[in-house]
Amino acid sequence: MSTSRRDFIKLASTAAVASTLTETAQAQTGGFRRIATEETFTVPEIIEAATELITKNPDHEPGWLNYISGEFPFYDTVLRQMIDLEDERLGLMDAAGVDMAVLSLWNPGVQMFEASQAVELAKITNDQLAEGIKRHPTRYAGLAAVAPQDPQAAAQEVERAMQSLALNGILINSHTNDEFLDDQKFWPIFEAAVANDAPIYIHPRRPPAQMVEAFNDYSMDRALWGYAMETSTHVLRLIMGGVFDQFPDLKMVLGHMGEGLPFWIHRLDTIGGLPTTVTTIKRKPSEYLRDNFIMTTSGMSWDPALKFTIEVLGADRVMFAVDYPFGSYERDAKWLNAADISDADKALVYSGNAERVFKITG
Ligand code: MN
Repeated sequence: MSTSRRDFIKLASTAAVASTLTETAQAQTGGFRRIATEETFTVPEIIEAATELITKNPDHEPGWLNYISGEFPFYDTVLRQMIDLEDERLGLMDAAGVDMAVLSLWNPGVQMFEASQAVELAKITNDQLAEGIKRHPTRYAGLAAVAPQDPQAAAQEVERAMQSLALNGILINSHTNDEFLDDQKFWPIFEAAVANDAPIYIHPRRPPAQMVEAFNDYSMDRALWGYAMETSTHVLRLIMGGVFDQFPDLKMVLGHMGEGLPFWIHRLDTIGGLPTTVTTIKRKPSEYLRDNFIMTTSGMSWDPALKFTIEVLGADRVMFAVDYPFGSYERDAKWLNAADISDADKALVYSGNAERVFKITG
């Protein structure tokens, strides 16, 4: 890493200590809070470790090479905004009337490192997340990072995050070393999530090696298409693989209006019920989607998608999310404020569901 980038990271994290913003959330119209639920942050330790790893092995995480080589023009801005939990972020939330952000670690987070380093970095990240929430308890909630590379350690971190750090759930950036969570070796993580009542946000990342070839051209490997294809495939593997028969109380959160899955419900149920479909699940795919999942609006601030998802899953199954700093609080709150749904549904999407799912009381 260059000297200037190291200095920059130090500067950004030091600046995070001082804040002059009021802790009082703005009075809002409508009588409900506005809570954004997929809000990205990172810590200097993750950036330093990732930069070191990619400098040694540029092929390890090709998306990261774009960032550190300077090919991604907004990297310095985005990095500063992800590390900051103080004036800049809170000011943008205030200006948009967003009361609270549920923070989670930038993808692929700890999942790009070897197991022991990933376990350590997850603890460091979660400790800093808990400290940030303690400084601003009415403005932030948080989802813990865990390292699926070591399922037992990840299960222990779920318990520590929920019980000792009082975080609000966990977030897993989809596949880990090209493996999906329907593999039973990962199921201690689900056991711990159910035991500690921790919802699991399955967040996209670049498709795994066995998938990514078809996405490598035209920038299709990331937010344009690859993220949604990877994450929806992963989640359908969990459903068809019987994860929710084994763990009926497991709660999961999906971004991007369910990564396309709500639109597929009719076909999933029709084909999933045919004798030619090889699976042993006990219910229709749609029943797991309705009972075990809640979707967020991240990157999908679009009335037709919102209304469709509410129609097929229910207004208690959609939560507001911006994906700051990749999304804009101002743009997305302006959209949902004016969205063509009832005020009762809007109250659920803006905060009622997040308060229930993430146990946000403060
Ligand atoms: Mn995101």
